[in-house]
Amino acid sequence: MNNKRDYYEVLGVSKTATDEEIKRAFRVLAKKYHPDVNKEEGAAEKFKEIGEAYSVLSDKNKRAQYDQFGHAAFDGNPGGAGFDMGDINLDDILSNIFGGGFGGFSSSFSGFGGSRNSSRARRGEDMLMHIRLSFEEAVNGCKKDIKVNVTESCDECNGKGGFGETTCSTCGGRGVIREQQSTLFGIMQTQKTCPDCRGEGKTFKEICRHCDGEGRVSKNKTLTVTVPAGIDTGNQLRLSGKGGAGINGGPNGDIYLEFVVEEHKYFERHEDDIYLELPVTITDVILGCKKEIPTLTGNGYVEIKPGTQNYTKLKLKGKGIKGVNSRTPGDMYVVINVIIPTKLNKKQKELIKELSETDLETESEFKEFKKSLKN
Ligand SMILES: [Zn+2]
Ligand SMILES: [Zn+2]
Repeated sequence: MNNKRDYYEVLGVSKTATDEEIKRAFRVLAKKYHPDVNKEEGAAEKFKEIGEAYSVLSDKNKRAQYDQFGHAAFDGNPGGAGFDMGDINLDDILSNIFGGGFGGFSSSFSGFGGSRNSSRARRGEDMLMHIRLSFEEAVNGCKKDIKVNVTESCDECNGKGGFGETTCSTCGGRGVIREQQSTLFGIMQTQKTCPDCRGEGKTFKEICRHCDGEGRVSKNKTLTVTVPAGIDTGNQLRLSGKGGAGINGGPNGDIYLEFVVEEHKYFERHEDDIYLELPVTITDVILGCKKEIPTLTGNGYVEIKPGTQNYTKLKLKGKGIKGVNSRTPGDMYVVINVIIPTKLNKKQKELIKELSETDLETESEFKEFKKSLKN
């Protein structure tokens, strides 16, 4: 499904690497493979791979999700969610790391979004989190405390990032500057993100210290979420507006919770139906009997008719799970599993022997099978 390389391997760091080590490794590799610098074949792909690995491992939440679920953590993300790797803005990553001096390659390297215009209102990031539920929690619904690290608009500067806003004199408020560069092909004019205002087009007399000029601060929060009954693995729940804070007055992003339901020791779920394997003895199925069984709502009984075959499925209508999107509950199936006795006492052995001397091959299957043998 996913043959991507391990992100730690891509950056050449250990799984226990610190943020600083990850940043350092990325810095070295990004410089080496930057498409403006490295014209070797495959450098651009390599660069993209490095950027992707860094964008995940440098983000606390994403890294935790990746450590737990691997690349699967970012599969099947909801449309437009912030985890879509196509959305990674390498310009942002690079200018954060190299302080803006490395910008301006969007023009030479497509696929990473256009030039940054930060004064535009932007929606905060969406987040996708995987949440583990026990079988019971999923079936019955529950309340879950979920720890998240989200960005919030900075209270100190009202999300602006500083105080005393003025137009950037370096770029005249355009956010980009033109530069002449001599290359193999002669002098070329390139445009790059203004290093003084980092593309904002404005500067502040005083940068907000509380948020380091970002306008947003990250916070650890605990959200109490009501998980509806009937959740199955892969079901998602959207926590509207609980994601990253909007930028420049944009709306907040959302948090998507995707559930992973643990397996039950005895019940197996198939959509809304559940299956239970019931071990029985040979006499149980030959003579018929009544058996006590566990169900989702406590213990119950099934009736085994005389002559029940192995692997027969006994249906208990409506005793399955009512899925989150289902109107009626599924069914429960009790699957008969005849266990052949291996430890017989003397008396039992004699009884079986006596039984074996009678004609037990009365069913049509035996006659049919005999026809298959050549005379
Ligand atoms: Zn500027
Ligand atoms: Zn601030």
